Amino acid sequence: MPSTVTIQNLNHAYGKGSLQKPVLTDIQLNIEPGEIVILTGPSGSGKTTLLTLMGGLRSVQEGSLKILDQELQGAKKPQMTQVRNQIGFIFQHHNLLKCLTAYGNVRMSLKLHPEIPRQEHRQRAADILAAVGLGDRLDDYPDQLSGGQKQRVAIARALVAQPKLVLADEPTASLDSKTGRDVVDVIQRLAQEEGCSVLLVTHDSRILDIADRIVHMEDGRLFI
Ligand code: ADP
Ligand code: MG
Repeated sequence: MPSTVTIQNLNHAYGKGSLQKPVLTDIQLNIEPGEIVILTGPSGSGKTTLLTLMGGLRSVQEGSLKILDQELQGAKKPQMTQVRNQIGFIFQHHNLLKCLTAYGNVRMSLKLHPEIPRQEHRQRAADILAAVGLGDRLDDYPDQLSGGQKQRVAIARALVAQPKLVLADEPTASLDSKTGRDVVDVIQRLAQEEGCSVLLVTHDSRILDIADRIVHMEDGRLFI
């Protein structure tokens, strides 16, 4: 089976000309199917930049970055979109739509997947919300849910289409430690059940045990 992520000699900089500032330098990283990798490192070291490149949210400047065997270096818009649709994103802030219920938010991400029959949407969304412990909150709007519950809806939304890769950027940063623990336990359990790979950025030393491997970023360089 090919690696889920293969990164070779990746460099990235912000700004142009004399204002150019290198942010990522000579990154090498492989993530295998089913592997949970935690990425740590100080604020400003380049973690989010790396995640957005891996997610097809930003164009690759230099080096090779393959996601699910698709090269993102030089990729055109439709290809980037296709890669994005195969990834589950979980951000620090849940980014749920306030005007949709928990169920509506999760179901919306299925609309990006024409290969999943419409008549399965309802059941899939309900099942994944039950799996994150919100089986009885389907009809609640984000304002009616606690921080931890909202983040669990965001996890359900990221995982409902059974992505092969989940990218999570400080998903517990706005939660208290017990809620944060619950949230990463859910990510770990679902990832194992679905056999998907996870790259999770965190500052939280209490959740490092869910990782198969921990990599560290310092000043745009990755230590693996
Ligand atoms: P981290 O997630 O580890 O905190 P980031 O990837 O967000 O690090 O940022 C790395 C560096 O790049 C920081 O110095 C930050 O100020 C800078 N940076 C991040 N995003 C941009 C941007 N869109 N334009 C210019 N500089 C940026
Ligand atoms: Mg960041």
